[in-house]
Amino acid sequence: MSEKRDITEEEKSLFESATGKQFTRRSFLKWSSALAGAAIASGILWDDKLGLFREASAQEKGLKEGEWIYSNCNMCGGQSGIKVKVVNGRAVKIEGIANPNNIANISTNYEKALKELSILYNDKDAAGRICSKGNSGLRALYDPDRLKTPMVRVGKKGSGKWKAISWDDAISQVADNLGKIRDKYGAESLAWFSEDHCFTHIQQDFCKMYGTPNYHNHSNLCDVARKASFKLVMGNERPLADFEDTSYALVFGWNLLGATKWILLPGIWNRGRAKGAKMVYVDPFCNQTAAKADQWVPIRPGTDGAFALALGHVLIKKDLINKAFIDEWCVGYDEYAKYVADKTPEWAEKITSIPARTIEQIATEMGELAKASKPVCIDTWSGPGHHTNATLGGYAITVLPALLGMIDKPGTIMEPSKIGNKHHSIDFDTPSLKKPRVDGKGTKYILGHGSGIYVETRDVVLGGKESSQGSGVPKTGVFVYQNFVMSVPNTKKNMDFIKKLEYVVVNDTHMSETAELADIVIPGSVYLERYDFTGYWVTWPVLGLRKPVVKSVINGMTEVEFWMAVMKKMGMKDKKGYSPAEQSYDAYYADEYNPTAYAKEQNWETYRKSTLAMTGKTEYEKFRKEVKPPEGGSVDDKTGLVKDKDGKAVGVKIGVKIMKGFDTPSRKLEITSTFLKKNKHTGLPEYSEPEDRPTADFPLYLINFKQNEHTHSRTFNNDYLMEMKPDNPLLINSATASKLGLKDGDAIWIESPYAKAKGTVQITERIHPEVVALQHGYGHWGFGKVAKGSLNKINKWSPAGTNDGQFFAGKAEKLSGQIVAKEIGVKLVKA
Ligand code: SF4
Repeated sequence: MSEKRDITEEEKSLFESATGKQFTRRSFLKWSSALAGAAIASGILWDDKLGLFREASAQEKGLKEGEWIYSNCNMCGGQSGIKVKVVNGRAVKIEGIANPNNIANISTNYEKALKELSILYNDKDAAGRICSKGNSGLRALYDPDRLKTPMVRVGKKGSGKWKAISWDDAISQVADNLGKIRDKYGAESLAWFSEDHCFTHIQQDFCKMYGTPNYHNHSNLCDVARKASFKLVMGNERPLADFEDTSYALVFGWNLLGATKWILLPGIWNRGRAKGAKMVYVDPFCNQTAAKADQWVPIRPGTDGAFALALGHVLIKKDLINKAFIDEWCVGYDEYAKYVADKTPEWAEKITSIPARTIEQIATEMGELAKASKPVCIDTWSGPGHHTNATLGGYAITVLPALLGMIDKPGTIMEPSKIGNKHHSIDFDTPSLKKPRVDGKGTKYILGHGSGIYVETRDVVLGGKESSQGSGVPKTGVFVYQNFVMSVPNTKKNMDFIKKLEYVVVNDTHMSETAELADIVIPGSVYLERYDFTGYWVTWPVLGLRKPVVKSVINGMTEVEFWMAVMKKMGMKDKKGYSPAEQSYDAYYADEYNPTAYAKEQNWETYRKSTLAMTGKTEYEKFRKEVKPPEGGSVDDKTGLVKDKDGKAVGVKIGVKIMKGFDTPSRKLEITSTFLKKNKHTGLPEYSEPEDRPTADFPLYLINFKQNEHTHSRTFNNDYLMEMKPDNPLLINSATASKLGLKDGDAIWIESPYAKAKGTVQITERIHPEVVALQHGYGHWGFGKVAKGSLNKINKWSPAGTNDGQFFAGKAEKLSGQIVAKEIGVKLVKA
């Protein structure tokens, strides 16, 4: 080995742990020569090929007992590939594996990454990446506080008095009570709330065969405003940003490095920067993504739309737009240009607090790169998305890639190709299914998403009046893997809502603030005990599989099995006599796996072993794909819009060619929205002020945020994760703290128009001076011991942290129905 090369810190520590000796260059060289190629007792190997010490693989260590079972993580909504070591039926270790969600770029290089890793590690899985949550999965599986048996309430709601019952009794009671409610009030009186990355199909089937249109799932709490904004401009709800191949990234309010949901993202961001891209991050809080960006742009909460309009203004003024692309592929440019003519950087500075010169600088930089045909990638998430002006604010952002012609190319915002798994269609029809939804999706909320509008349903129940004729008022609620009380803004209203329902079923892994108010509680499964299909966060079709790696630790039923059993008890079948409940658990998933869309040779059995099915490669600029003129269809001479014989828009004529275009009404990118115009709106991404801004009484903006230790409000009883961060002090800028006479660690009262509660102060330079912030999900009182603060020895005021949700109004954004979780004024008083 070379005596000249530098020896890394990792090698030094491996050497010390292997030899028990303190590192010196001499001792290192002596040992490395003596041990070259040989395994040593501690499992550290000298690897001749790599020229360094490394951890021996399990095989090299001679480990034979147990087996590694492949699956997919679900500690968050991501789908990282994992392998789980199982010894004598007990899971003992989780590691990441190399699969498209762990190591690839979003849009391209899985094969390339695999090859590089195989060469480097001689074991491609050695490089699989998972986050702290993924690594803590076993603590969720073997958590002693898990629910172990169904329980019915025997005291008053919330009294904590429960009686354990058998699974058979639970099935009978739920079937019986849901049946009675339907008979008495109609099927639409059932409101259902579920998670969105697991076992949703069976729940949707249940709702359909029960006859209620009122199914909701988690997306409404997450990104439906982003979905609506992108849908307006490009007709695609879930585009993906290719940061690795970009030359300039501009990201609004998405902590993709810290609030880890897709483990591949931090690597993509860092590789993009290493290749020379400039990353610009816009957020009131300098989080991990801002820290790893080239420029952090602190902004007043909820004003992102104004910033984006001013960027558009500068791009047009400086002729940095892609006029040829706009002429060919966009509609509504002239109206937009007129609208932004007075949206100057000076105008935006007053609203956003971002200096006009910074706005000029960012617009000029990205415009010049785009002019030079260098890729620019612009994306937005819940920072702008959790405000009362979210959809149009987001729309002002999502038109920027259209102005630059930066869509669906390497290094830009991409349209993914997804296939997903099969959903066996339920042929069932009943008048209640045609009734308007209680939450105003598609009526009051014209861009409402299939995940529904949680707070609207809640408020209808609280008000006791149906939202539109025939929609009814829910009388019963089923909450599957959804802690509504803690996850939805305005905790008090949430509790009142659940108390007001006549019958409440909670199906979850633990008691929770929601379960405490239920009539019956059904234990749920942890992801290592069940099946789920998961689409990956990449632009080509990949279907991952979660599967049971151990038997149910509580000896219970999975959610799918439980709801199948209730279906069966209620005699639910569709018109053709089909019921998912007629199948075994395995057969149900085998049926939902659709091999033909992926590799034909991959059947359920081989897929079940590999947990991965994929097909095809990333395709770029799919909108330019030529399509055949539809038989009996028409072409509009003025707009180029191509319709089939049923009048459905299927393409657009560009020059002499008919192309696929985008899934918008015009089949082009809509800088001014045809859909909005049809709905009594100008169609422009107009800026309006957020509704719940600070006031004289409540002078500081409060926002919430997420970080990699936790998912939503559900990982807070995981002792490993809580040991990393047992508390959520209120972040405050040092200048603001000094004005208020606050010191680091001070106990404070945080007060909004909706709640007053204690917290502690953490002083930082990393936050806008007008803003304070709480990490989301803390402050539990009805969850397990750890969530209630048993590990927190530091903060006597708020042992389980401070619940952020209580301070917010609990509104829905007007167009998409997205919950508003980052918009309120608060005051702080020393406790
Ligand atoms: S990001 Fe972390 S928690 Fe989420 S799926 Fe991946 S490893 Fe699991």
